[in-house]
Amino acid sequence: MIDVNYTLINIIAGVIFSSLIAGFGYKKESLSKSGFIGALIVGTIIFGFGGWIWFTLLIAFFVSSSILTKYKLKAKKHLAEKFAKGGRRDFWQALANAGVGSIVAILLLYHMLTGSIEFSFETFYASIFTAAFIGAMSTVTADTWATEIGVLSKEWPRMITNWKKVPPGTSGGVSKLGTLCSLAATLFIALAAIICIEIDALFHLGRLHGDILWILPVSVIGGLVGALVDSIMGATIQAIYYCDKCKKETERKIHLCGEKTRQIRGISWFSNDLVNFLSSLVGAIVASLIYILIV
Ligand SMILES: [Zn+2]
Repeated sequence: MIDVNYTLINIIAGVIFSSLIAGFGYKKESLSKSGFIGALIVGTIIFGFGGWIWFTLLIAFFVSSSILTKYKLKAKKHLAEKFAKGGRRDFWQALANAGVGSIVAILLLYHMLTGSIEFSFETFYASIFTAAFIGAMSTVTADTWATEIGVLSKEWPRMITNWKKVPPGTSGGVSKLGTLCSLAATLFIALAAIICIEIDALFHLGRLHGDILWILPVSVIGGLVGALVDSIMGATIQAIYYCDKCKKETERKIHLCGEKTRQIRGISWFSNDLVNFLSSLVGAIVASLIYILIV
């Protein structure tokens, strides 16, 4: 059964904290206006139905990604044209990155409403829903860290499908630096989850939970497989365009120079946002499977 008071407090806290953090992101130019609305929606759902620990993982993703996007902005400027969108994240990007996490939160609510899950903090920490949520967040964090830092790699990345060297920033390209960043991101999310759960356990159970080391393999394997699927889709079905004027590959339909681009590979409606959404879904599923296997 659901704890109504607990959920109500979480929804109110979700609205407050989401507005504060999304407002800050808008002011700092990490979010566009529509991105602010998107972040407010997913933030409220995730805090409201998942609780403060899930919300903290969302913030860990959002804040670390925003910082890395701004990191070495000058060195990345010439690469900006390759990416479909600039540094400001819009509504669809918010849904692409936190949509799967929000769906998992809604599923958790559904199971609590129908009574198939009894609300208790003990079971709450160690549930397949938490595993799925961690897998989704780990995937989008791994993808963002790899993209934002990986493009700075001195070494040219290799296309994941045919292993040919491609210019930095090419969708589907993987580098050593990018892969290390992905791994670091999955460990970062795991560590954040473990610390939050232990703090919450101290508060609600009066002792450490202790039995949550499964989070490490769930986050690392879920996140890395999700990020791998992201690269494979980026190399195959994601729509990629070419600017004839600048002779450059891009994710944009209209190039930064103003020229209309032409599609050179992928499926026209398969945007980068859809790729991110689907890869985080894969991350969530893989994380759930690992959870079932080891817990
Ligand atoms: Zn151009």
